[in-house]
Amino acid sequence: MNHIDRENLTMTKMVGIYCRAHHGTGGELCDDCAQFLDYAQVRLEKCPYGEDKPTCANCPVHCYKPRFRDRAKAIMRFSGPRMFLRHPLLTIAHLIDGRRRARHPRELTREERLERNGRVSSRQDGD
Ligand code: SF4
Repeated sequence: MNHIDRENLTMTKMVGIYCRAHHGTGGELCDDCAQFLDYAQVRLEKCPYGEDKPTCANCPVHCYKPRFRDRAKAIMRFSGPRMFLRHPLLTIAHLIDGRRRARHPRELTREERLERNGRVSSRQDGD
């Protein structure tokens, strides 16, 4: 499983834990949480860092709209500690990702930006 797929899985699990506890849903997400997860998955797909993506909490770009950013913080705060018991491997991988330092795209050289854009384009072309 690549990095982006793993992040997608981690986010899906965290939203599920949050939604079950706060909205009383059994397996399906409520409309609000489903909308949040859709939004987060699109941001993940379009992330300018690609496979070098840091955790969103450590990101200098912060591409989320404010209302989704607030929801993401609430979900991370609640589900983060609960993830370790339910999905320890995903949690450990996420903690390791959290140590990755991300440079703002403005700090990148032209070649680095082109390389990243090429990677994003080729990933989107493969859809
Ligand atoms: S917040 Fe940063 S790391 Fe997260 S998806 Fe957006 S650009 Fe990528």
